[in-house]
Amino acid sequence: MEDCIFCKIARHEIPCHIVYEDEDVLAFKDLKPVAPVHILVIPKQHISGMMSVGDEDAGIMGKIFLAIKKLAEEQGVSEDGFRVVVNQGEKAGQSVFHLHFHMLAGRPMNWPPG
Ligand code: 5GP
Ligand code: ZN
Repeated sequence: MEDCIFCKIARHEIPCHIVYEDEDVLAFKDLKPVAPVHILVIPKQHISGMMSVGDEDAGIMGKIFLAIKKLAEEQGVSEDGFRVVVNQGEKAGQSVFHLHFHMLAGRPMNWPPG
C-alpha cells in the first residue's frame, strides 16, 4: 500500500521510535501517547483492520500477541498490568486503516473504556 502511513513506517520510510521488530511484526511508540507506555504493534503486511484479518493471517496474529507479551516484560509492566486495544472502524475510533494494537500501561485504566 503506497500511501498507508503504517506501511511507510514498516518500510522505514517514516522515522519513529521502534521498540520491537522481526520479519513480520513491528512495534513503535505512538506519536501522541495517551499513557506513559503507549506502543503500537502492527503486522508489516498491510491488513486494513480487524475485519480484514483472514484465515491465512492466523500465524501473524499469534506473533503479534507474543510480541506484546515480550514488550510487557521489556517495558517492566507485566506485573502491574497493561491494556491491549484495537479500534475497529471509525465509530470505535480507528483513524489509521492498517491493523494496529495499542499497548497501554503506566497508569490506572478505567472500565468501561470511553
Ligand atoms: P487509531 O485511532 O487508528 O486506533 O490509532 C492510530 C494511532 O496512530 C493514534 O494513537 C496516533 O497517535 C498514531 N499515529 C498516527 N500517525 C502516526 C505516526 O506517523 N507515527 C506514530 N508513531 N504514531 C502515529
Ligand atoms: Zn498499511
